[in-house]
Amino acid sequence: MDIFCNIRFFKKFFLKNIIWGNVCREDCDIVNNFSVFSVAIEVLLSNFAVAMNGRGKLYFKYGTMGSAKTALLLTQAYNFEERGLKYLCMKPIIDNREKENVIRSRIGIERECSWIYREMNIYDYVSELYESSLVVKDWILIDEAQFLSEEQIDQLARIVDDYGTNVVCYGLRTDFQSHLFDGSRRLFEIADSIEEIKSTCACGRKTSINARIDAQGNIVTDGNQVEIGGDDRYVALCRSCWRNKRIESAERNSLKFKSE
Ligand SMILES: [Zn+2]
Repeated sequence: MDIFCNIRFFKKFFLKNIIWGNVCREDCDIVNNFSVFSVAIEVLLSNFAVAMNGRGKLYFKYGTMGSAKTALLLTQAYNFEERGLKYLCMKPIIDNREKENVIRSRIGIERECSWIYREMNIYDYVSELYESSLVVKDWILIDEAQFLSEEQIDQLARIVDDYGTNVVCYGLRTDFQSHLFDGSRRLFEIADSIEEIKSTCACGRKTSINARIDAQGNIVTDGNQVEIGGDDRYVALCRSCWRNKRIESAERNSLKFKSE
């Protein structure tokens, strides 16, 4: 399947460049025409080589809320730009009222991105982008990757395998009930490289839980996995503090806490 994909990609590159060569050759002699043709073939082969060698990797960099995942992504994008590497930033759209297609960090930096819609086939989107621009990206950086579907993570893996593009997914490991998100689960299953971005709880331990809180600061344990709203509804805690705070919240509300 991969080889056919690459051949299809090569064929499109080839046809587009031959057409370009034909347009340019009107007042060229046979030698110039041959040289245009040679350059076109060279460009084709170099792009084809990148597509064929499969050197890319699928990365998953996970952490809790507030662990500066987005800031790291934006820093990475800045570095790629400085080094002249071809990259693309993408992010799943959760709130349809969102107007600006930007990835924004809490520390105040932002960068333009392409939206990933719920039913979108990311492989088809990227293939069309590569074929229309005749450019294969070196890197694709994805924010909030936990919100992608299992199928979309598989599509990202195929982009890595077919085009040699490195795909870096930044996201949360678990939801407010400490269960894996679908996108994160699939990344743990198939990513080439998995890295934890660590941050520290107020008690000094490593954070591992994204606890949801209400307006009074009580821990919320019921509700939808994804809730549209501000990040101020969440606090990153270690597992021990998460348990203690749930007990405190339950006692404050005079409800009997179910012992574990
Ligand atoms: Zn703690």
